[in-house]
Amino acid sequence: MGKTLLKVESLKEYYPVRKGFFGKTGYVKALDGVSFEVNDGEVFGIVGESGCGKSTLGLAITKLIEPTGGQIILNGEDITHFNAQRMRPIRRQMQMVFQDPYASLNPRMSVRDIIKEPMIIHHLASSQKEMNERVVELLRQVGLDDYHANRYPHQFSGGQRQRIGIARALAVDPKLIIADEPVSALDVSIQSQVLNLMVELKRARNLTYIFIAHDLSVVEHISDRVGVMYLGNFAEVASKEELYANPLHPYTQALLSAVPVPDPEVKRQRIILPGNIPSPINAPKGCKFHPRCFKCMDICKEVAPPRIQVGENHYLYCHLYA
Ligand code: SF4
Repeated sequence: MGKTLLKVESLKEYYPVRKGFFGKTGYVKALDGVSFEVNDGEVFGIVGESGCGKSTLGLAITKLIEPTGGQIILNGEDITHFNAQRMRPIRRQMQMVFQDPYASLNPRMSVRDIIKEPMIIHHLASSQKEMNERVVELLRQVGLDDYHANRYPHQFSGGQRQRIGIARALAVDPKLIIADEPVSALDVSIQSQVLNLMVELKRARNLTYIFIAHDLSVVEHISDRVGVMYLGNFAEVASKEELYANPLHPYTQALLSAVPVPDPEVKRQRIILPGNIPSPINAPKGCKFHPRCFKCMDICKEVAPPRIQVGENHYLYCHLYA
């Protein structure tokens, strides 16, 4: 694995809200001090239930929303407070692929124009001919045909539209791609085709991915390391092998217990968590997971667990391991 490409330190995304009869200001803590690193050439999977903050994390890293606090360091450069103008060259280095490929593609633009647009913004071609050649090359790389360039988004299936979204992201030759639930809107059979394409492109172009999903089996397929998020922060981060073989955090154990095992001989005991993920406006005191935790202790209700390292690439936030 290469050197650190992205370092995120104590990243916060707080939204003020009025609470109660007297209109006291409270905060929705969508991200509450998230820290992690992603190495060059790595796939870092981020998984969690909806509302855990994983999509907000993708938007904050790419500065599509302004972080409330913390630091984002890309390639050794602190970009946390970069304005739109200073972010422009940075956007060449990191691109996003979104969940809904239809909503993220302009229906009035041809595929050629959609893929050309980022090249124009970043002045990446000296002539129309060069740009058109690049469009065809990118379409081929994502498994589409040359003639698709003249068509419009509505003429494609969901899987093909996601391929167009990936081609558009690749148009600026980025180092890092942040893919936010890129296959969740697709049929299961199409999901694996798009995942395999992403794996092939990563190898061919030495890409680094942050791959966000709610489905642990999708993340397992593609990731080198996985971070499990709960209510604005990681609960556990480990290498894929370690996390799936030896989940330590009760939340990870519960999520993994729900993943079907392909071997019918292996029986896994399902852990059913009570209730839903609480609102981040009224996040529980102490460990935010404590109202749903089947191993909750008294200390968990009062004190937030610190980060605990349990292996070279394995850390978690839980009093059980303090
Ligand atoms: Fe459960 Fe306590 Fe660990 Fe939180 S700190 S996950 S409540 S055991």
